[in-house]
Amino acid sequence: MSSIERRQFDTLIIGAGGGGLRASLQLAEADLSVAVVSKVFPTRSHTVAAQGGMNAALANVLPDNWHWHMFDTVKGSDYLGDQDAIEYMCRAAPKAVYELEHFGVPFSRLDNGKIYQRAFGGQSQNFGGDQAARTCAAADRTGHAILHSLYQQNIRAKTHFFDEYFAVDLLKDGEGRVLGALVFNIHDGQIVIIEAKTTLIATGGAGQLFKTTTNALINTGDGLGMAMRAGIPLQDMEFFQFHPTGIAGRGMLITEGARGEGGYLVNGDGERLMERYAPKAKDLASRDVVSRAISIEIKEGRGCGPKKDHVLLKLDHLGEDVIQKRLPGIRQTCITFLGLDPAESPIPVFPTAHYTMGGIPTNRYGQVVVPVKDTPEEPVAGLYAAGECACVSVHGGNRLGGNSLLDILVFGRAAANHIIEYLKENKYHKVIDEDIVSNAVQRAKRFDLNSEPSPGGDEVKETVAVLRKELKQVMEDHCSVFRDKQFLIEGVDKVEQLCDRMKNVKIDDQSYTFNTAKVEAFELENLMACALATIHSALAREESRGAHSRIDFPDRDDKSWMRHSLYSFENGLDYKPVRTKPLSVESFPPKPRVY
Ligand SMILES: Cc1cc2nc3c(=O)[nH]c(=O)nc-3n(C[C@H](O)[C@H](O)[C@H](O)COP(=O)(O)OP(=O)(O)OC[C@H]3O[C@@H](n4cnc5c(N)ncnc54)[C@H](O)[C@@H]3O)c2cc1C
Repeated sequence: MSSIERRQFDTLIIGAGGGGLRASLQLAEADLSVAVVSKVFPTRSHTVAAQGGMNAALANVLPDNWHWHMFDTVKGSDYLGDQDAIEYMCRAAPKAVYELEHFGVPFSRLDNGKIYQRAFGGQSQNFGGDQAARTCAAADRTGHAILHSLYQQNIRAKTHFFDEYFAVDLLKDGEGRVLGALVFNIHDGQIVIIEAKTTLIATGGAGQLFKTTTNALINTGDGLGMAMRAGIPLQDMEFFQFHPTGIAGRGMLITEGARGEGGYLVNGDGERLMERYAPKAKDLASRDVVSRAISIEIKEGRGCGPKKDHVLLKLDHLGEDVIQKRLPGIRQTCITFLGLDPAESPIPVFPTAHYTMGGIPTNRYGQVVVPVKDTPEEPVAGLYAAGECACVSVHGGNRLGGNSLLDILVFGRAAANHIIEYLKENKYHKVIDEDIVSNAVQRAKRFDLNSEPSPGGDEVKETVAVLRKELKQVMEDHCSVFRDKQFLIEGVDKVEQLCDRMKNVKIDDQSYTFNTAKVEAFELENLMACALATIHSALAREESRGAHSRIDFPDRDDKSWMRHSLYSFENGLDYKPVRTKPLSVESFPPKPRVY
């Protein structure tokens, strides 16, 4: 064991997207030693793909107020969001944007020099009044601008990066404290034990669970899998967002900003379909509403194209100037992948898996919380989570567009601030017992050992590629925009069988250099954990709320179901109450949700 490299840091951050890098910057600037581990070069994290922008009530274009932003977020969440965390986020939003401006993010500008803001789904003035314009944008490449600025600021602040290192498991002692993680260098396969007084998981979402997705190939829910293996339940995993406008059949995202700039959806009969489903907000209703509307139109035979299997997003009436100035990225995507220019013809679109609303349960300080005896939430010592992998929960049953970039920055920063305080009280590294390390190393080597032929040589050899393909298809068929009991029961069965088959996975590539086969095996294992949590939680929740839409239980049931689900390997499903009490204002009680 002595040959295994060990490194010590005050804080280990797993993930170099916007959430991880905002936290690391805060910590490095506080003169702490910070390690950031990322399986890809930091600026390739999925945050780089964010297009439309980030919400903050700056009121640069139309009247606005953080309290209206809070109302929209609570309503958008279908009343499952925790109102203390939502208030905190919406109040902190303007500051988070100005901070980015000072870090060097080149936001688009209005003629008067202020930051440009566009309309996005689910935004209102005066608690449900007219449309607001709350989304701060750098053209349609906002995430790119943010991630690069944050990376540069981290380089200046001397954050220590472990680029292209894969984190396999958390290291947890007998008292439940998290003491760091086992990672390996993808370049040469060498294992490194990173010992840390605090660990922050910021590994992003799990969009690769589904066949058609806007998410990068790296979004495999690794942090969620790690947390589950460390005995931490996952919260609200049944709520998975389907973005209404993915390119049909392929999944690449066309930002909601396209509708914010005045684009709209038409069906096969040439009708503006959203006028029927959301008479007031129309194409800027929230995402769950628009995705369901498109699915219904297609199911009822009003789709477009020879197979009537998509609808069209019309932008050509906006004029080439607006498209080139405000939506250059999606124009290029359409030209590259569809051979069509949205300035001239409409874009074929279909709902596509997009965002993991559920995740690792945290409070608004980023501390990971678990139920202990009769208390619903007790912090796990030394463990934090922020970004898409965390469930604070500000998005509840449905996230509003533009609220995730905000979430990752606000709670990345909040988690770092809490860590700074925690470290004042917890000055020293705890000793990690050899057996904790050796167990972790054994697990990290299991695909090496697993690949040796068994003495009998008769067992089935499963491959990652086949299992991954099947998993994504099962999730798409059994757990997407509309769900029902029979389909979910079959889905649970299929996912459980896949998890069993995962135990027989073998990988042929046994090299140490850039062994992507091994990386993909670990990723698939994490996806399997996410799939189990998602489909079990979806089967259990017998109501329709936010993105979780049950054909057999079409109504929201606040009496029985206004509560968060928690799924763990050990205990299956458990529940905890929604925090309906905000910090300083009155609570928004549940109301029917119309747009
Ligand atoms: C196409 C697209 C467009 C979007 N547009 C918007 C938008 O306009 N506005 C908005 O608010 N939101 C948008 N979102 C959502 C938003 O971008 C994401 O939720 C957010 O950027 C996630 O940030 P993150 O820091 O949590 O994770 P990510 O940016 O996904 O980063 C995850 C990090 O974790 C690392 N990692 C993961 N697993 C491991 C492992 N095992 N070992 C080591 N490292 C690991 C990765 O290398 C990466 O650095 C969009 C999402 C997509 C997919």
